[in-house]
Amino acid sequence: MGQVEKDIWTIFKSLSWAETYLKRFKIPEAKIDAEYLLSHILKCKRQELYLNPDTQLTNQEINTFKGFIQKRSKREPLQYIIGEEEFRGLVFKVTRDVLIPRPETELLVEEAVSLISNLQTPAPKQPTIIDLCTGSGCIAVSIAKEIEECRVYATDISEKALAIAKENAKRHSVENRISFLQGSFLEPLKGKGLEGKIDIMLSNPPYVSKKDMKKLQPEIKEYEPPLALYGGEDGLDSYRTIIPEALTYLKNGGYLILEIGYGQAEGVKELFGKNLAYGEIEIIKDLSGIERVVKAKRE
Ligand code: GLN
Repeated sequence: MGQVEKDIWTIFKSLSWAETYLKRFKIPEAKIDAEYLLSHILKCKRQELYLNPDTQLTNQEINTFKGFIQKRSKREPLQYIIGEEEFRGLVFKVTRDVLIPRPETELLVEEAVSLISNLQTPAPKQPTIIDLCTGSGCIAVSIAKEIEECRVYATDISEKALAIAKENAKRHSVENRISFLQGSFLEPLKGKGLEGKIDIMLSNPPYVSKKDMKKLQPEIKEYEPPLALYGGEDGLDSYRTIIPEALTYLKNGGYLILEIGYGQAEGVKELFGKNLAYGEIEIIKDLSGIERVVKAKRE
């Protein structure tokens, strides 16, 4: 092979190089990951890469791609490498300061949207909604986008996470309807005059138990913020705080909607049972059939 030929990086050659490289590091979806990263660089769809396999990459594209592949070989999640993830059809900026939005978390937003539009009669004109532990802001921003005229308060203990959430709110032009408050769980809500005024409070809090933290895949364990994952010895500490404290803020007829981890439904139900102001508790399963969301009404 001549020198010239060897240095030409076509789409096809780049992909097969990357696949071999990632396989050496035992990355499970080597081919798909390589396609995903290259299509991001070339701003095209994954399938479109194969329409022009002989297209040559520029030096800059090659260098970026090699950098991306090297990161992926060390198990960095794709979303941190490219710096974004989609949630409810919107693209969110993500960094290692925030949890990567998961598809099952979309269920929380879906529930809130359907409650506001169907169940509450008369529908509140300007519903007030609180998102605890907002992280990237994916829940707060989608809610602000999907529920017209709602007012959202989003809290997070991490200042760095809030900075990302604010950027995401700007990116989707809802920054005027979301107040970002720094502090642990409901703490920063104090003194804001929100007591008894909240239509819906929702949260995807940290809920991984001590035992499960050790079993997480390297992408999560080594890259995602433990602050957003660890929920104490049995994983239920966040619920021990949120469930009783939410009652101060929820209206009569308001809802608390929480994401839960695998196998936590019974434990969380029990915590709700200790607070008589909650009526019937509904558990909603995700697409994999796992009990994922708990919804309770303040009676
Ligand atoms: N769903 C995350 C996981 O896959 C956990 C998120 C959380 O603790 N809220 O581990």
